[in-house]
Amino acid sequence: MPELPEVETVVRTLRKKVVGLKIIEAQILYPKIIKSDISVDDFEEDLKNRTIEKISRIAKHIIFHLGDVVLISHLRMEGKWFIYDKNDSFDKKHILAIFKLSNEKLMCYQDTRKFGTFHYQGVNEYLNLNPIAKIGLEPLDMAVQGKYLYDLMAKSSKYIKTILLDQTLISGIGNIYADEILFDASISPLNKGNDLNVEMYQRIADSSRKILKKSIDMGGTTIDSYQPEQGIDGKFQNELKVHTRKNEPCYKCGQKVIKIKLNGRGTYYCEKCQS
Ligand SMILES: [Zn+2]
Repeated sequence: MPELPEVETVVRTLRKKVVGLKIIEAQILYPKIIKSDISVDDFEEDLKNRTIEKISRIAKHIIFHLGDVVLISHLRMEGKWFIYDKNDSFDKKHILAIFKLSNEKLMCYQDTRKFGTFHYQGVNEYLNLNPIAKIGLEPLDMAVQGKYLYDLMAKSSKYIKTILLDQTLISGIGNIYADEILFDASISPLNKGNDLNVEMYQRIADSSRKILKKSIDMGGTTIDSYQPEQGIDGKFQNELKVHTRKNEPCYKCGQKVIKIKLNGRGTYYCEKCQS
């Protein structure tokens, strides 16, 4: 599942490729991808001749600004955006939507699992509508500090890792980065929200920013050398410090990294360094 840094990488890559171009034709091959109350015919018709003015991101939502409307794309499990030349031959099997652009390239949404979504909303309304309205601030926002997280989370008796995954509180932290953030902050995922003080929440805020920024920077460099037009999926080799490192020595103390299940999610941590 692409996480926030991967989605940011997708957005940066798409920006370079398609901003300023016009959509000449839109073709929806999987109608259920559209979650807004509009028919496929109307959707395709309405998109015609709209210019992609900019592409932004809120949490893991990719937002195409098209004049007075926005198209909001969420990749969910396996969604990917590809740009093809019109003469490229490609397998349409998992392509759910094709946008023919004014430079004659095809911008295609591919999704083997078909969990991805499109919302189509007014540019003046979308911030106040779901899915965007219910999303919490992301850790890259400097408003997210120890006191902010404490006020938001310290009443909860849920595990801190589970709380960090709740996108309505803080957005953009997925399973992998939650493990990495808690390792960096030296905080056990088994703490409850109400076990932590402001100083500990400050460590979480600082580690969240540090790790998400680093991952975005790495994603940016990796994807540029990785034929972005043939795979804007944002997957990049990440130097994970704890996630996936079961039984391997902790980078800080050498003790074996432990893997447990926490509310059904694979969770990696070091018992010695994280308390
Ligand atoms: Zn350790």
